[in-house]
Amino acid sequence: MVKLTSNNSPSTQSSPGAICILEDEDAPRRSLRFLLESVGFQVIEYASAAEFMQLFDPDTAACLITDVRLQPDGPNGLDIQDRLRQMESAVPVIVVSAYGDVPMAVRAMKGGAVHFLKKPFGSSELLEQVDVAIEHHQKLREARRIRLEVTARFERLTSREAEVLEEVVNGKSSREIGEMFEVSFKTVEAHRAKIMRKVGAESIPELMKLYFVWKGNASPLFLRKPALVDPQNNQLAARH
Ligand code: CA
Repeated sequence: MVKLTSNNSPSTQSSPGAICILEDEDAPRRSLRFLLESVGFQVIEYASAAEFMQLFDPDTAACLITDVRLQPDGPNGLDIQDRLRQMESAVPVIVVSAYGDVPMAVRAMKGGAVHFLKKPFGSSELLEQVDVAIEHHQKLREARRIRLEVTARFERLTSREAEVLEEVVNGKSSREIGEMFEVSFKTVEAHRAKIMRKVGAESIPELMKLYFVWKGNASPLFLRKPALVDPQNNQLAARH
């Protein structure tokens, strides 16, 4: 079974991270905090765009809920969303507004907002959106983690192994590959064994799955089932 190691770095732990609230008015910010904490979320508040830009940490954030209307002399919630996008942040954004007109909603959607919530909204409506946002974000992070690990595995291949890999993926037999590179069948088999070990595949279908993920032709989440854990792979590969 193909397995990937679990990663315990802070940004990839199973905890979804904090729900960040950006809202300049105290009362709605506190009531949002109260609601989110009452269902067990960790919450970080920002009372201004400036405070947010200074303190926001995308690695610990699960989701940002931002009001559109912030201090009149600074950026608004949509500007903040644009900045996050420019930073290539994957943190999902829920834009909240009492002035939810169509152009604003369209801009929020184009900017990749998970949802545009119009005040007044119900608690369940907000919590539902937060759940959707967190799930989406966790999938993105998991996909990124798996792709990085798969890439690291394929980068361990020598240039000859990489050449053999391409032919294996093209469906060539060890005999055909041997003729192509003018080496013995046994040599090709040895290369194949090392390739399989280095990338953590136990069968050709598993090798193909990993290969397509590495090449960006398949979603890394394709590899999640069965769960991918191979604590020995790194040690094995390190010896070669
Ligand atoms: Ca506001």
